[in-house]
Amino acid sequence: MSSQRPILLRGGRVLDPSRNIDDVGDVLVSDGRIESASGRIGSHDDAEIIDCDGCIVSPGFIDVHCHLREPGREDVETIATGARAAAAGGFTAVCAMPNTDPVTDNQAAVGFIIRQAQRADASRVHVIGAISVGQMGERLAEFGEMVAAGAVAVSDDGKPVVSAQLMRTALEYARSFSIPVIDHCEEPTLALGGSMNEGIVSARLGLKGIPSEAEEIMVIRDILLARRSGGHVHLAHMSTHGSVELIRWGKDRGINVTAEVCPHHVSLTEERILSYDTNAKMNPPLRTAKDVEALRNAVKDGTIDMIATDHAPHHYDEKEREFADAPNGIVGLETALAVAVTNLVKRGHIDFRTLVEKMSCAPARLFGLPGGTFAHGSPADVTVFDPQLSWRVDPSEFLTKGRNTPYAGMTLEGRAICTIVGGKVVHRLASDGANARQSRASSG
Ligand SMILES: [Zn+2]
Ligand SMILES: [Zn+2]
Repeated sequence: MSSQRPILLRGGRVLDPSRNIDDVGDVLVSDGRIESASGRIGSHDDAEIIDCDGCIVSPGFIDVHCHLREPGREDVETIATGARAAAAGGFTAVCAMPNTDPVTDNQAAVGFIIRQAQRADASRVHVIGAISVGQMGERLAEFGEMVAAGAVAVSDDGKPVVSAQLMRTALEYARSFSIPVIDHCEEPTLALGGSMNEGIVSARLGLKGIPSEAEEIMVIRDILLARRSGGHVHLAHMSTHGSVELIRWGKDRGINVTAEVCPHHVSLTEERILSYDTNAKMNPPLRTAKDVEALRNAVKDGTIDMIATDHAPHHYDEKEREFADAPNGIVGLETALAVAVTNLVKRGHIDFRTLVEKMSCAPARLFGLPGGTFAHGSPADVTVFDPQLSWRVDPSEFLTKGRNTPYAGMTLEGRAICTIVGGKVVHRLASDGANARQSRASSG
């Protein structure tokens, strides 16, 4: 790895919120590290030069929430295909949820994923261990052993932690390892049998709904438990305006709570389900325009700390079922950036600096992960994206094995041109739309 050629990223808009830098200039990486990231570097012997004119060059994106399905469902995704999809989407690192088969709830299982990720040689894959053994919600998994093997957080994502006592203990225990507990906020008796948001649309479609309160009850329960325990609770995939108010309440009181929003919850509403499209079925469900507006404002004002994909590939046949019976979830690694640029930045809700903060700096800082900065000597994880490039989403071109996306056929703006992990190029855009750029990018 250390014998790689240096790379000079020339003439892009270098945007590094961690150091308050936003200037047109060059970034030089060598030996897998950031050598320099400010001003003009000029010529450099034997460096590969990548022309970044018109692009934003930022610390690499980090997705704290994705499902890579291995072990157990390698027909749907593997760690390798997920890591390559991540690289194509501009993510230099992702965190894999533990709801695999078997569940990632012990040291050996954590080690397996790390080894598979190293072999994949694409984006970094960090491991999230389970909160409870087998995600059964009964007994805590051995956090210490999982952390020793490399786990960066714990979660029973896919399932709520029903027992408040278990969640309390998890927060206390996780605190001693300085890792967050990632919370899938869902009160199961209220959510039971629901397949979309509860409201006028669900009534019209005759589908059982999931009320906002199913999420919010767990949000406030676990904010209160974080206050009691001093542990760090990270609230996954927030979807309601009520949750935003509760997070604000917690943060105003100095409670150790952070939160993420997914691109789909800030770009689509429950109306999308009027056609019974199972590619718009996810958990938590798409909500109302009022919720979307509140979530966008919460990204802007800092109530929501980060943008995470909840990338959840499913087999085609499984999504072909009746709406109520189809599995939840959509793929997101390859559309997240464009959905956020198109719906948050281009509509004036946030600027690019905030986008990079939410997709890179905050995940690194709040989860204690490498990256998220161009500070001298930090890992050379870099995302180069063209904020103007518009492209049509064609799921058949995805590197993920999943095709389940509600954005198929849509034209979005913003795309990763080049993704660099540890000083090595792991993705270079080579679609028709980028041919001009590709031909301008010279080598040597
Ligand atoms: Zn979840
Ligand atoms: Zn999830």
